[in-house]
Amino acid sequence: MCNKHSEIQQNPSHFEGSAEEKVTAQHVQANFMDYIKDMKFFDPHIHMTSRTTDDYQALADAGVVAIIEPAFWLGQPRTGLATFKDYFSSLVGWERFRSSQFGIKHYCTIGLNSREANNEPLAEQVMEILPLYLYKEGVVGVGEIGFDDQTPAEEKYYRWQLDLAKEANLPVQVHTPHRDKRKGTERSMAIALEHGIAPNMVIIDHNNEETVKSVLDQGFHAAFTIYPFTKMGNERMVEIVKQYGSERIMINSAADWGISDPLAVAKTAALMKMKGISDHDIKMVTYQNAIDAFAQSGQINVEDFENNTVIDQSKTFNGNTILRGGQQPRIDKNAIVIR
Ligand SMILES: [Zn+2]
Repeated sequence: MCNKHSEIQQNPSHFEGSAEEKVTAQHVQANFMDYIKDMKFFDPHIHMTSRTTDDYQALADAGVVAIIEPAFWLGQPRTGLATFKDYFSSLVGWERFRSSQFGIKHYCTIGLNSREANNEPLAEQVMEILPLYLYKEGVVGVGEIGFDDQTPAEEKYYRWQLDLAKEANLPVQVHTPHRDKRKGTERSMAIALEHGIAPNMVIIDHNNEETVKSVLDQGFHAAFTIYPFTKMGNERMVEIVKQYGSERIMINSAADWGISDPLAVAKTAALMKMKGISDHDIKMVTYQNAIDAFAQSGQINVEDFENNTVIDQSKTFNGNTILRGGQQPRIDKNAIVIR
């Protein structure tokens, strides 16, 4: 069958279920919103700085009520301290405002990312300004920090930032490396324990089937990034929840400037629903567990997002709005005519 053949070629690692399941999976892809009516989601890792207002609107429409934006690497190396300052300021300022204009509560974590820890002269300067941001309102952790290439410089600044987190009594959001993941993950956890940080205060991110057992067994939180083509597909995620249950597991999109999907959390919830995961477990891994972990910062008040948030797009931030000249607040995205 020619038709089937071309489909397999397009999706070499795609869904391997019965014919019936396959049909349902396609239905989910097309109508995932039908499966998640009345659900709400918390995406604990998403880089909205790199995304558009369309993404904010789509998140709101899918039921995402709150997000955490970790400080990270912007795709090219920064050349000076000032750009770090402006970036951190936007995470607690403009980006939070932009999010509020779509009814989404925005939190962030602040840290020196592992990649740029390797520029030591600059890293030293960044370390000096981190405390100025870590104590600001809405900062729910130190992150994302950890290992990339697993260099000595990365280890040095990871350790240093663990101490900052301990001092500020903030959770730690740990980025685990893509290469040598297992080793990097074990090392990240061992070092955190060495610094006297309780595993319950540490969210180990970008897990997969290889790392999840050890992370959970040692008492850490296990976050999973649903990222097209690389980290984890959401069919694998469903299997992990079936196997390990929902305790201390959370799902995120880590959507950024690369090929990624800001709706990954909502879509995975839909797939879980279709695959028979209980509503309780879906809620835990797409909402509650992330809140419980990061609320240890003392910065999350669920009343801010649990009931419908009032949206006022006529508000301004330092005199600036998300509206462009003459635009009316709250455009109806479903209207075909764009005025
Ligand atoms: Zn990230």
